[in-house]
Amino acid sequence: MTGEPEKSAARRTKRTLRFAILGSGSRGNGLVVEADGTAILVDCGFNLRETERRLARVGMTPESLSAIVLTHEHSDHVNGAAPLARRYRLPLWATPGTAGALADGAGLAKIDLRHFSAQEAFAIDGVRLEPYPVPHDAREPSQFVFTDGARRLGLLTDAGHITPHIESVLQPCDALILECNHDLDMLAEGDYPPSLKARIASPHGHLDNDAAAALLARLDPGRLQHIVAAHLSEKNNTPWLARSSLESALNGAARRVEIASQEGGLGWRELV
Ligand SMILES: [Zn+2]
Ligand SMILES: [Zn+2]
Repeated sequence: MTGEPEKSAARRTKRTLRFAILGSGSRGNGLVVEADGTAILVDCGFNLRETERRLARVGMTPESLSAIVLTHEHSDHVNGAAPLARRYRLPLWATPGTAGALADGAGLAKIDLRHFSAQEAFAIDGVRLEPYPVPHDAREPSQFVFTDGARRLGLLTDAGHITPHIESVLQPCDALILECNHDLDMLAEGDYPPSLKARIASPHGHLDNDAAAALLARLDPGRLQHIVAAHLSEKNNTPWLARSSLESALNGAARRVEIASQEGGLGWRELV
């Protein structure tokens, strides 16, 4: 064989966009997105030790991460973020509002803090992030579309309702992680105090199964390689209810809906 074997091997290496979920729900969230050799951790709701354990479960170490990116300051998304960033000297990206809320609470001393705007795309090495604002009871919450330039992974959790902007951002996605927080009947009949029920169901609370399904019905199911129901309430929802709501919105499309669980998360899924 002639030529440069290493170079042709590199040329053969397919660019991939893939993701794994460390855990999803009100007791802690974490998503790893990897493209082109860059891995970023989106939210870190677990303490340092638990984050290390869950990263190891998907074959990662904190050292293999390039950055941590936050959606908003609620503790199920930030619990371990500052300690992890400090211990492993990882840049911590947040909107000014999220960073301000964090600085008021946990403190951000000795952290390489970087701001992004919820209206403006930015890149962390091989991963391009397109943030978008969401209606949620936090200071400046955002969610994301991640792309390697070819494929697009949409993330939407912690949103009280679907805005036209959210729908247009998620329209051209190849995979979707979508909040199915609660079943409306289970929430109404459950034993949460009325104020908490109202907060969850408010337009700045969390997406219920039907709202998530209504959004999915307006997207292009044929394009979606992965559909993951996420941020399920352990009290006010069941995996079966979330899955059947989303599957009914797919209108017979063969795509299977997967569940990101609180304890097990979800192993690597790749966009091809
Ligand atoms: Zn949350
Ligand atoms: Zn939240």
